[in-house]
Amino acid sequence: MIDLRALAKDGRRVQGTVPVERLGRLVESLLEPVGSVEFEFQGERDDEGKLYVELLARADLVLQCQRCLEALVWPCEVSNRLLLLRVGDALPDDELENDEVDALEVEPLTDLLALVEDELLLSLPLVPRHDDCEPPVKTGVDEEISPFAVLRQLRGKV
Ligand SMILES: [Zn+2]
Repeated sequence: MIDLRALAKDGRRVQGTVPVERLGRLVESLLEPVGSVEFEFQGERDDEGKLYVELLARADLVLQCQRCLEALVWPCEVSNRLLLLRVGDALPDDELENDEVDALEVEPLTDLLALVEDELLLSLPLVPRHDDCEPPVKTGVDEEISPFAVLRQLRGKV
């Protein structure tokens, strides 16, 4: 838990690593809770005194392919620039049209890991799939049946 506004005012940076298994909501979307997430928060204050934080997060997440149902390693890299607002502050007009910046209402203390987790969840594919794979049932049946069918044919001929 840190004060993100203070981090931005001072232009400070916070870096860390967290095991994937500690991010409970993220784990629910994964096939296996393995590996770790690297993250970095870089605070920034612009000329007008607006406060920003640049969030970077990186992890290799193990998802389940929705076609073959096998594991799919998803190299996840999130980079987002957040404009910090006090809770209840109105969004400045010029930011409404700026797609490159997301506004974030911050409480005096922010749970950094929850923020990292939110960003990772948003970056996950809706339907994870390998570029090239086959559905398991169909393939399995074909491979199992065909050798026996061939054997039966051979026996029939003898
Ligand atoms: Zn697949």
